[in-house]
Amino acid sequence: MRDASEHRYLIGLGSNCRVPGIGAPRAVLASAAGALADEGWRVEALSRLADSAPVGPSQRRYANAAAVIAGDLRPPDALQSLQHIERTFGRERRGQRWRSRTLDLDIVLWSGGMWRTPGLSIPHPLFRERDFVLHPAAQIAPHWRDPVTGLTIRQLAARLSRPLRTE
Ligand code: ATP
Ligand code: CA
Ligand code: CA
Repeated sequence: MRDASEHRYLIGLGSNCRVPGIGAPRAVLASAAGALADEGWRVEALSRLADSAPVGPSQRRYANAAAVIAGDLRPPDALQSLQHIERTFGRERRGQRWRSRTLDLDIVLWSGGMWRTPGLSIPHPLFRERDFVLHPAAQIAPHWRDPVTGLTIRQLAARLSRPLRTE
């Protein structure tokens, strides 16, 4: 559903395999930023591309990035739009989670705060423990606050990179 008001999303982008005609994961992410614009999103900020170790059974390294995108789609429609882009990059949704994928687009935070319906949770339930999400996100949205903990992205990122510090 389109909406009169504007919605802003912090999204995480990930890729760990080549896409024919596009290239290696880093090229896939650069191209995904263009695809977001083609889908009608305003890409307000894009982090640098980072490499991270693989999670789960797939062995290749990931390229990750974060973006702030704005548009008039409410969360369920925003997710559909992102999943449509994933499909255009050849992502198959069958099979196990965390398998190799050409492109993964997750909603991390939303300007409206929290959203919880079957199949969609915002904030993303695991983002606070993921350096590959927080590190790029801190470059582009350091002051954006997690509505659950009240901490900013910068604070969450710092907490992860100093795990032994007691507060
Ligand atoms: P993870 O969510 O741990 O990063 P993943 O990205 O590999 O794992 P997917 O297979 O891409 O998981 O997505 C599984 C489902 O998660 C999607 O079909 C979607 O309905 C749901 N989902 C729930 N919350 C979110 C969110 N904030 N952003 C994206 N997908 C979400
Ligand atoms: Ca993910
Ligand atoms: Ca996902």
